[in-house]
Order: sequence, then structure tokens, then C-alpha cells
Amino acid sequence: MSFALECPNCGKRPVSEFRFGGEHQEAPSGELSAQEWSAQLYLRRNADGPHVEWWFHRFGCRSWFMAQRDTHDNRVLATWWPEEAAPGTEAVAGHGAAAGLPQQEVTHAPLASETPGAVEIGPGD
Ligand SMILES: [Zn+2]
Repeated sequence: MSFALECPNCGKRPVSEFRFGGEHQEAPSGELSAQEWSAQLYLRRNADGPHVEWWFHRFGCRSWFMAQRDTHDNRVLATWWPEEAAPGTEAVAGHGAAAGLPQQEVTHAPLASETPGAVEIGPGD
């Protein structure tokens, strides 16, 4: 089945450009028994409905991001960077940095009007 995913960096692209990274799981807290570790590592919800997943834009910007996808009809409801909070939830400051995830840098070329010291040089100067 084909559907489109919206990379937070590149925009909407066909799913064939991406690699599925599995369901998102919260990191365990506290001491876990062997059975709890086994469940953490191997059991997945595989829900029929919306859930949060990891995706990698392998034929694009080569970045990992999060997507909320409804597995019933493959509708992608939202995408966001791992270091950001999911849309509709409160921001978690520094979450991505603490997890060792790569930080995205947003750069843009300054407009001529923003460039300090820019002067117009006309003929005759
Ligand atoms: Zn991308």
C-alpha cells in the first residue's frame, strides 16, 4: 500500500523514500524483571488505529523523525522532530539532547536588507 509522509524538513514525499523505524516506546524507568525487559524489547502494541512511529528519510535529508499514523487507513496525522513534543502535548525541554539524538539546525540566508553594512554602489562611485 502506498501513502505519503510529510518529512518535517523536506515536505510531503512518497513512503518509498522512507524507512520504517518501528513503534515509539517510552524508555523504561526503575528496575525491570527479566520478563518486563523481554516485553519491553520484543512486544509491540500493533494497534489498529493511531500510534506513534519512528521514520527515516533515507532518500532525502537522511533524518529520523516521528509520525503519528493511523494503521487502519495509513493516514499520517502528524510528523515532528524527536526533540520536539508531539503536536498537542507540552514541550519537553532538552529531551532530544538528553537522548543523544542529532539536533537539527535551521539556517537561512540573510536577506540583503538584513545584511549589516550592505551599501548600494552605483555608477560613478
Ligand atoms: Zn527529509
